Amino acid sequence: MTDEPLFRELRTLLGEDRVQTDPSVLSLYAQDETPRHCRPDAVLFPASHDQVAGIVRLARQAQRPLIPRGAGSGNVGGAMPAPGSWVVSFECMNHILEFRPEDRYMVVEPGVVTDDIDKLARSAGLMYAPDPGSGAYCRIGGNLAMNAAGPRCVKYGATRDHVLGLRAVLGDGREIRTGSRTSKYATGYDLTRLLVGSEGTLAMITEATLRLVPAPEQVASIRVCYDSNSAACQAVQRVMAQPILPYALEFMDRRSIDALRDFGAAEGLPARTAAVLMVEADGSRDEVVQRMLALERALSGHGMLEIQSGFSKAEMAHLWVARKSLSHAVKAIAPRKINEDVVVPVSCLDALVQSIDELGHRYRLPIVSFGHAGNGNLHVNLMVHPDDPAEMERAADCRRALVEKVLALGGSLSGEHGIGSEKRQYLPLEFDRPSLEFMAQIKSLFDPMGIMNPGKKLPD
Ligand SMILES: Cc1cc2nc3c(=O)[nH]c(=O)nc-3n(C[C@H](O)[C@H](O)[C@H](O)COP(=O)(O)OP(=O)(O)OC[C@H]3O[C@@H](n4cnc5c(N)ncnc54)[C@H](O)[C@@H]3O)c2cc1C
Repeated sequence: MTDEPLFRELRTLLGEDRVQTDPSVLSLYAQDETPRHCRPDAVLFPASHDQVAGIVRLARQAQRPLIPRGAGSGNVGGAMPAPGSWVVSFECMNHILEFRPEDRYMVVEPGVVTDDIDKLARSAGLMYAPDPGSGAYCRIGGNLAMNAAGPRCVKYGATRDHVLGLRAVLGDGREIRTGSRTSKYATGYDLTRLLVGSEGTLAMITEATLRLVPAPEQVASIRVCYDSNSAACQAVQRVMAQPILPYALEFMDRRSIDALRDFGAAEGLPARTAAVLMVEADGSRDEVVQRMLALERALSGHGMLEIQSGFSKAEMAHLWVARKSLSHAVKAIAPRKINEDVVVPVSCLDALVQSIDELGHRYRLPIVSFGHAGNGNLHVNLMVHPDDPAEMERAADCRRALVEKVLALGGSLSGEHGIGSEKRQYLPLEFDRPSLEFMAQIKSLFDPMGIMNPGKKLPD
């Protein structure tokens, strides 16, 4: 049966240009950051909550899968279309609806770029704390759906900790509001926390009320070089065991430093450097001085080769050069990285990093690990050649062994990137059957026809 009558209805609802079926446009929306493609049947650009509700109504009638999409920067296939699906791109719902500094909140549509929220908040001495590395282009709807996080989250928490309330259209067509606009709230079930991190599998988020916090007067940086991974991991434990929470606590392992050296970007690091921590402190000018001293004390210990601090913008930028070059350096190792985003209790970070080294040897793969050590969250990158089937098979075995190790250490599959289509096969390793069945029941309550982002988040 031709889809033309359906597309006519969609065009009446959204407007002529807001329903795209041109193959070149469909191709642009056929994937996210993962190397898999599936062309949707249409890409829709709603401009309001009511239009989103209309799309869900038509999709239910036509039994079409809906794929919510922000900027497509996700790296677990969360925004990957399903066959016959309609992508719902929130690019045109990109307005900041309300900004109330006195109440410390901002109401935004899902298509607002994350950094723009922070920029506006700072004009009133506030900030939006979650800071994903993709903040310059990812959209708040994608952050909400994935519970995104970043370096500042060691002190301030992830996206979920900064949402007061949501407006959403459920997969069954109902329109709901969750939470409130107040900083305290003890009414009803906490549907906000359920929808944040639900990866578009329960509802389309059409509006969010975000919590803002005071922006620090000053931030300062510390770069510490160690002679082993283990010495750096022990320093992370010492930092997290004392009372001053860092503004960032980032780790680069031995393989990262090797990659930087090969890439010519390790200038200034002592010759024996095998691991680096990048640490930041924030607060008023006086507080920052005190906090830097406390953090430097905790960071100093066995295996430390050098510690350098920077207070001015130029000094800080200089200290961060190696870390900022890392993505490019890693790309030079192999054509593709399989990026795991595991998280363990901070006290187990050392054991995890040792195991990753062992896995690299056992499966004969370069594995580069770095990330948000203060949360025990590591980006473990298996560097592979996709046209080498034997290597890809070893990588698949290595991934599973990594997940098993992480779970044995009391950790979890994902710290911030989410599950999407890429990691859902591992969920039965982390959750028992009753827990998974309960999650499936929640899904069918919100989305009885299974049209909301199918094939994501939960195993089949
Ligand atoms: C260079 C780079 C750096 C990154 N750094 C970080 C980082 O530091 N921290 C981090 O957490 N992630 C990071 N990411 C991953 C990614 O940017 C985040 O997951 C981000 O939150 C995705 O936002 P997006 O707008 O691109 O969403 P998309 O990729 O388009 O979608 C992500 C998910 O959200 C769903 N979704 C989108 N909008 C809605 C909506 N309105 N309602 C319901 N569901 C919706 C989609 O269906 C999908 O499941 C990085 C990615 C890259 C490429």
